[in-house]
This record gives sequence, structure tokens and C-alpha cells, in this order.
Amino acid sequence: MSRRRFLAASLAGGAAVTLAPARKALGAGSFEGYPDGMGVLVDLTRCIGCRSCEAACNREQNLPAPQEPFDDQSVFDQTFHGGTQKRRTDENHLTVVNRYQPEGDQKPVYRKIQCNHCNEPACLTSCFVNAYTKTREGAVIYNSKVCVGCRNCMIACPFNIPAYSYSSVLNPMVKKCIFCYETRLKNGNPPACVEICPQEALTFGHRNDLLKIGRERIRMQPGRYVDQIYGEKEVGGTAWMYLSNVPFEEAGFNTTLQKEPIINNVKDFLSTVPMVLAIWPALFSGFHLLASRKGEHGEDHEHPQQEDLKP
Ligand code: SF4
Ligand code: SF4
Ligand code: SF4
Repeated sequence: MSRRRFLAASLAGGAAVTLAPARKALGAGSFEGYPDGMGVLVDLTRCIGCRSCEAACNREQNLPAPQEPFDDQSVFDQTFHGGTQKRRTDENHLTVVNRYQPEGDQKPVYRKIQCNHCNEPACLTSCFVNAYTKTREGAVIYNSKVCVGCRNCMIACPFNIPAYSYSSVLNPMVKKCIFCYETRLKNGNPPACVEICPQEALTFGHRNDLLKIGRERIRMQPGRYVDQIYGEKEVGGTAWMYLSNVPFEEAGFNTTLQKEPIINNVKDFLSTVPMVLAIWPALFSGFHLLASRKGEHGEDHEHPQQEDLKP
């Protein structure tokens, strides 16, 4: 790519992306997700930690074979960062199940984590090139074609979900659960992880209906459940929500998250410093085009199942 083409591409990219955050900021705090959006209610009281959901996700998303087989429960003993962190999602594991030992003599609880498909996703609002889309079906999906690799989304996500494929030198991209959008959700079908669960710990349905189901379970068995649906309000609401029999912090949930969408914290800032938005995304776009040299060497940054995903 010539220097002239680099600058032209940078400026074009910058102009396009400068408008995007402004549109996002205008809508901040007023969007509560699509009314007919789908979701999943995860009931921790039913989960037995079988990891069938991990295996189903691995197959559905054509991910590499894992180091440990999916029936190996020793993974629950793995910890990182000096024992402070349990397993998290990465480029080869779009969902993982972890085990937690609540206080007292209670039995351990298991928690499946994946992208929560927020109503107002921080990953989306932090992305200057609009690589993320919240679909009408409720999924938050990612388009590697336009991603410039800045990894803002990884910093912005309150649930530490997006992962970067560091292993691929030629084809780096952000990886996260996409709610089986291409293969299932957009056809009205439940995700692979939900379908496989032998305990019916995962319930697929319209988000509004799931909230009713969750409240009904709490009402019917108040001694069994904590009186809260995690994800109903957190960061403005999420499509994946949780019921628990132990205080949520004892199952590793971040209970300090705000109830407002994350963008509410920065919308005033976004509207007052347009130069920041104008300059640095343009540079990132240019660097990305230089690095990828799309069309000149036949290299492409597409993800086979995540292209052209705008609804
Ligand atoms: S959980 Fe993180 S990656 Fe998923 S939609 Fe929300 S902000 Fe984005
Ligand atoms: S919804 Fe699909 S991509 Fe997401 S964790 Fe479940 S199987 Fe994996
Ligand atoms: S398949 Fe169901 S029961 Fe098994 S670990 Fe996953 S959520 Fe829990």
C-alpha cells in the first residue's frame, strides 16, 4: 500500500467512524434492548458442572480440540494470576464453566460464563469502527472485516469477555460467544449450549418471558433462590441472566456493576471532544490496512461465520 493510499484510507475511515460514536452517544440511556429480543436464563441451582455446554459450543463454533477432554473435572481446580482468577473465555473457549465453593457447608455451585449479550453493550459503544452489532434477535455479534484490532472492546467489557487471538499472527481477531447467531439464533433456534444441557439449567426464550419465569421461580421457592435476577438491571440489562441459590458474589459475579449502561458514563465526554474521535481511529484504521494489506497478498481477516452480520 502506498503512503498516499494509507493516508486516504485513514482519513476516510476517520470520517466514517467519527460519526458513529456521536450516534451512539445520542441514544445512550434510552435504549433498553429490542422488545422481542431473545435471551437465556441460567439457573445455577440446576447446573451440575458437566461441561456439556462447553463441548457443544466447541463443536458448533468449529473450535480446536481442548487440551483437557470435556469430561475432565480437574479443570475446576485451575487458577491463574496467583490464584485470584478462575478460567475465563479465550479464543478457543467461547464459554467456560467454573466451580465455586460458597461460604459454610453448602455444596459447590457451578457457573457457565459467556458473552452476556448486553442490551447496550460497552464493547459496541467503545468500538470506533462499528465492528459490533446488537441484532434484533438479541445477539451481540462481531465483524472481523472492519475490526482494526485496537482491542478497546476488551477493556470496555464489564464482564471480561472478548478475547484476542494472539496465536494467529496473520489473522488476529477478537473472539467471543456470538449467541450461535449465524447457525441458530437468526433461524429462531436455541444455541447449541442450551440445547445440550441435560439439566435444563439453561432456558432459551424472549428476554421479557425469561424475566417472568425467573420471578416466578423465586416466588414459588423463596427458600431456594436469592431474590434477584442477575442481568435484569446490571449495566442496563443483559440478554443472558442468572438465578442463584447463593449470594451472587459467592459465585464469582461482579456485584458492584452499575445499573446504568456503561456508555452513560462517557456520553458527555464523547460529545465534547470530537477531535479525539477524529484522529486516533483514523490512525488505527490506517495501521490496520497497512498491516493486513487486504487484496494485495490475498490475506483477509474474515471469520468464516461472522461476516456480513449487520441485521
Ligand atoms: S458481555 Fe461484554 S462482550 Fe458481551 S455484549 Fe456485553 S460488553 Fe459486549
Ligand atoms: S451461545 Fe453458541 S457461541 Fe455462545 S456459548 Fe453457547 S454455543 Fe457457544
Ligand atoms: S451443560 Fe448445563 S448442567 Fe452441564 S455444565 Fe453446562 S449449564 Fe451446567
